Amino acid sequence: MNGRKTPVCICLTGRTISEDLSILDEQRSYVDMVELRADFLDPSEKLNIRDFPEKAGLPCILTVRRRCDGGNFTDGEGARLVMMAKAISFAKKDSKANFAYIDLEDDFHVDTLEEACRTFGTRIIRSCHYLDGVPENLDEIWDNLSEEDDVIPKLTVTPPDSTELARFLQWSATLPDREKILMVMGEVGVPARILAGRLGSMLTFASVPSSGATWAAPGQLSPQVLSTIYRSHEVDDKSDCYVLLGAKSIIGSMSPFLHSRAFRDAGKDALMVPLPSDSIKAALENVRFFGAKGAAVTVPFKEEVLPFLTFQSVDVQHIGACNTIVFRDDGLAGYNTDADGFERSALEFLNRADFRGMKVTLLGAGGAAKSVALALYRKGAECIILNRTISTARALARKYGFRWGPLDDRAMDLIAEYSDLIVQATSIGMQGGPGGDPLSFYEFDGHERVFDLIYNPGKTQVLKRAEAAGCQILNGYRMLCYQAAGQYRLWMGEEPPDSYFAV
Ligand code: NDP
Repeated sequence: MNGRKTPVCICLTGRTISEDLSILDEQRSYVDMVELRADFLDPSEKLNIRDFPEKAGLPCILTVRRRCDGGNFTDGEGARLVMMAKAISFAKKDSKANFAYIDLEDDFHVDTLEEACRTFGTRIIRSCHYLDGVPENLDEIWDNLSEEDDVIPKLTVTPPDSTELARFLQWSATLPDREKILMVMGEVGVPARILAGRLGSMLTFASVPSSGATWAAPGQLSPQVLSTIYRSHEVDDKSDCYVLLGAKSIIGSMSPFLHSRAFRDAGKDALMVPLPSDSIKAALENVRFFGAKGAAVTVPFKEEVLPFLTFQSVDVQHIGACNTIVFRDDGLAGYNTDADGFERSALEFLNRADFRGMKVTLLGAGGAAKSVALALYRKGAECIILNRTISTARALARKYGFRWGPLDDRAMDLIAEYSDLIVQATSIGMQGGPGGDPLSFYEFDGHERVFDLIYNPGKTQVLKRAEAAGCQILNGYRMLCYQAAGQYRLWMGEEPPDSYFAV
């Protein structure tokens, strides 16, 4: 059975009609519908909205949202009614020149306005907004919203965490098959916006902030992002879905971009969606709801996911962390592509087949360092591991017969001895992480090759300093690409396309 594409509705929150129309023109190729948020218009524009649908040239929703519902309309209900009435009146023969929909809140019932809407063919969206949480009495609210057969019920909720998102998603699956709009705001709601069709929602909303305009709702994505990264016009609600599991910081991660580009280039009917979560248990419930076939796993779930795996690859067992899941009929199969990603990018950087005969300093003993240590051991390096917490450096080093030490000037002589390659695997210098230079106490003499696993920023302080001293340097972008290509191989069972390595 073929799936259904989810139309993207751009929510326009400019201060003037011409500003709204110019935003629409920029985004036109990515959108199917328009919501005019007339509550954001300047007072002088508010009575000039009648011609908007004709100018927009796409099906339009008229919304005049009050402050209490998350909008910007502060005048009284009488003024709101006049605005709406003027907008839908003098209906034109060509229905495309009229508002196709009007959003009326569940407590706003004006018989004459509704009769006019029904007469002129403007469909009523009956809406209710929860801007802080998910209400307990969802069934009762829904019964109230969907009382009339010809209205389109719309419910917006804002789950504070992934457990509440799970509750809402599971409830949405109990709803009858009718035209409806379900919107999930906030960061944890991002996957539900991208995959709105899987909740049975007839559309999803997107918006673009511009000069003077504001983002219409927290967690809303731009039409361009929905189209280019999340393939809104290529995939449908039956396409294969892959998810990125991690903390809230994964919104904006490179992974969905890398994978979606590869899926497109390989002709796959698939997309990758971030699933920012605060609980691995709820995250996995949400994965099941969306019917995901595979997951990329990142901080903080790489270790927390282990008890849920029914199969662990050899690398997962050695490293003690999983960055890739394949969802099989018999359970969750866990893999780790980080060690391989490091090995390939490092050997390419060094132009070597292995690390034999090389003396390597590894900075850090966290999740990433564990993958690096395995790869260095497998391919024959001699290594010293330096870490702020010496006990974790010692535990990791002992596993592979490496040396260990503190990450400070006491290690200066050891670094000089193990300086063919220096691998930076702490989070120091990472965008949003602790700033600084983890090797500030060490002076490069130019012969060292320095590989920093961080790829954002492209050049950390330590890489800049090493480069200035004449060292060859590499950031973590190639490793990211290799580990992502490894994930594709596991999910699809075939060789990844070259696009993983395109800049
Ligand atoms: P973890 O949280 O597991 O480990 C963090 C490491 O950084 C630990 O060794 C920790 O030391 C050290 N550290 C953190 N803060 C400080 C500080 N203020 N001073 C000294 N040491 C500190 O993170 P990961 O191992 O998962 O990630 C580490 C880095 O590797 C990240 O920047 C990440 O972006 C990058 N990475 C890149 C990948 C790629 O494909 N290119 C893949 C995976 C990760 P301590 O033990 O003392 O806390």
